Amino acid sequence: MIKYNNDLLYVEDLSLKEIAKDKPTPFYVYSLQQMRRNIDIINETFEGLNFHISFAAKANNNLYILEALKDMGVGIDIVSKGEFEAAKRVGFTNEYVVVNGNAKSDAFLREMLTYQPRGLNIDSPEELERLSEICVQTERGIKVALRVNPDVDPITHPYISTGLKKNKFGMDLETAAAVIKQYHSHPYIQINGLHLHIGSQLLYISPYEDAYSKVYDFISSLETHNLTYINIGGGWGIDYHKQGQDFPVEEYKEKVIPILKRFNMDLILEMGRYIIGNAGILVSKVEYIKRTPFKSFIVSDASMADLIRPSLYDGYHHIYPVTKDGEEELPFDVVGPICETGDRFAEDRIMTTPIVGDYIAICDTGAYGFAMSSNYNFTLRPAEYLIKDKGLVEIRPREDFDELVSYYKPEVL
Ligand SMILES: *Cc1c(COP(=O)(O)O)cnc(C)c1O
Repeated sequence: MIKYNNDLLYVEDLSLKEIAKDKPTPFYVYSLQQMRRNIDIINETFEGLNFHISFAAKANNNLYILEALKDMGVGIDIVSKGEFEAAKRVGFTNEYVVVNGNAKSDAFLREMLTYQPRGLNIDSPEELERLSEICVQTERGIKVALRVNPDVDPITHPYISTGLKKNKFGMDLETAAAVIKQYHSHPYIQINGLHLHIGSQLLYISPYEDAYSKVYDFISSLETHNLTYINIGGGWGIDYHKQGQDFPVEEYKEKVIPILKRFNMDLILEMGRYIIGNAGILVSKVEYIKRTPFKSFIVSDASMADLIRPSLYDGYHHIYPVTKDGEEELPFDVVGPICETGDRFAEDRIMTTPIVGDYIAICDTGAYGFAMSSNYNFTLRPAEYLIKDKGLVEIRPREDFDELVSYYKPEVL
């Protein structure tokens, strides 16, 4: 998606320098073409199975990104009331909406009863109990999936592992078996799916093998059930290091797809990062190159408020100067303007010295980038652009200070 051409960095066919020249920095830019490529890989991998892709909106909730995905036939996976409203605003219909969350409110569950999403994932017996009371009260029925926690180590950062028994998500298999039995002939609730999502940024296949095999054995051990589908979650990792550590799709086809075929059920996929992660770039201006007797710093105008992954879980991102003028390669700390030592995108990174006033591209920031941005230090959230059919479209303006403080009325106090 990105490459140098005559020492200038290009995204698809557009020069980043050209894109940046009249825009306030930092900003995000996404490639629609790259999103398509990613979806093509998923489609190819699951070919022959009856599957439905839903996009985990938490990875990137720009409505135009969601709309673009909808137009590609992808559904949406939501975890909050806000994401639900966003899905409706963009025009997803109920058959394209999968609902997650471990803290669904009474009001939200009521709404789901009327809405009837494609999948409603239930996190706990307590939640199912609450839903059941509402069903009885309103005399409405619904099909649900149980989120199970297969207790496998996804071999990823502890903050993004979700399928260990100590994690807060889902229910252990024993509990799930009891729940399935208890609700077997419930007048309103039909448990017709199982859901599992074991973690994010997975680069190894074995956790999927273990988890899906466990669930397969689990289903085989049930005396009776009404299961028709498995929601296999997401979690496919991307190659932030660009060292051949991309998600091993071929190995997945070889080792995981046969397990999924054995289920002989419909599948729902909940992909976030894999669809949008490598399709986004954060472009930032180099304000200073600061040299101390101990270190050299690239001081950029982007910060942990725009992209928190490096500060939050040591997320690695490639950083390239947008203009490569051939100056020497040095170890740099790439830092931002926020008053926190943790406001750092890279430490001792060997890279070509960028030009002050020019730009750097922080790569693979399409997922959990803007979506996790904040106003810390009164930072205005950056603009977002989409490269579509070779042209550039602004899909969200840079946040506006006046709008941000519009709640402030001098007469209130
Ligand atoms: C976050 C999340 C996903 C998507 O995870 P990725 O690692 O971005 O693919 C899918 N399902 C659930 C339940 C999630 O919480």
